[in-house]
Amino acid sequence: LSSIYLHIPFCERKCIYCDFYSIENKSKVGNFLQALHQEIDLYKSIIDDEDIETIYIGGGTPSLLTIKEIVKILNHLQTTFHIKQDAEITIEVNPGTVNKQRLSEYLENGINRLSIGVQSFNENDLHVLSRIHSVTQAIDTIESAKSVGFNNLNIDLIYAIPGQTISIWQENLERMLEFQPQHISAYSLIIEENTPLEKMVKTNLVSPIDSELEAEMYSLTMERLTNAGYVHYEVSNYSKPGFQSKHNCNYWNHSDYFGFGPSAHSFQQVKRWWNVRDLNSYCEKLCSGKLPIENSEILSKEDMFNESVMFAIRQNKLQIDGLESKFNVSLSDSWNTIFKEMESNGYLRYENGIVKLNNKGFLICDSIIEKLVSRISLQ
Ligand code: SF4
Repeated sequence: LSSIYLHIPFCERKCIYCDFYSIENKSKVGNFLQALHQEIDLYKSIIDDEDIETIYIGGGTPSLLTIKEIVKILNHLQTTFHIKQDAEITIEVNPGTVNKQRLSEYLENGINRLSIGVQSFNENDLHVLSRIHSVTQAIDTIESAKSVGFNNLNIDLIYAIPGQTISIWQENLERMLEFQPQHISAYSLIIEENTPLEKMVKTNLVSPIDSELEAEMYSLTMERLTNAGYVHYEVSNYSKPGFQSKHNCNYWNHSDYFGFGPSAHSFQQVKRWWNVRDLNSYCEKLCSGKLPIENSEILSKEDMFNESVMFAIRQNKLQIDGLESKFNVSLSDSWNTIFKEMESNGYLRYENGIVKLNNKGFLICDSIIEKLVSRISLQ
């Protein structure tokens, strides 16, 4: 089963830490939408055989589009592709950009999952991140979403924000838990290259928090959320049982996905390609009837294996025999000693070829992945 991602590249104002492609100039929305509809048409023959299980409208800030514009896009997708009746359809919204009426219009038009970019319930954190909204607006958006009937709600939070203490982070988690969202994404703040935040760090205007405190925040997140009944189903993602994001799981299980809009990525079987990261060239290419693809790559068997190991560990569902038969390779001899040693050091449980990380294991997830893939050669 496959997925569709739509990248809506407009934001009210750029946040200092963000490296997603989006622009503040909304005078180009009309041109963008025209190009997006052309792109959807061009994909008809490519996606004709696929059953679409999830649609994700992200960005940028998709909630800046009008309801008419959103509905037109959804209708176009419905008439062009085979969208499953019970497809998971998510839209990202930023607090302060939607009201109750807009939220119920989303619901009436088939959007059944809402992802709210709260990021923090602390005013100072929001200020450091240069978010456009206040804590009150975030709470208002969550309450409105619940009151109009959304019952699959994600809240995005960020930790390791400069100036944040462990108790501020703990308060954040507690406030969020009051709303009992079905899904929580909690990411640590990454200082991305070429962002204003990176410049501020380089010029000592901002000091990132140290890695020990960041690890402490991550440990607290895992402990608090699992104690509150959430399943820790991926490094940074937690859900009530049965509410894992199908869309993200499709990415992590190497299902096919098709991305529309500037900078969007696509993947089919072993091929990955991505669109130009510039609205003007995106529109120009589509205007002349061409797909706006910047580049593509074919993943080798080794690439696919390495990614599968990474995804499996990050989703905490590594099963040795499954990987062995998929890639026709013997893994137990090379990996047994690694897993046994890690088990005796308290990082994971290893039983019948199934590996289960515990919280301590999640803290060193990347180095586990590195160790595993470095031991295997698929030649
Ligand atoms: S609202 Fe989201 S996409 Fe837009 S600049 Fe901020 S973080 Fe980036």
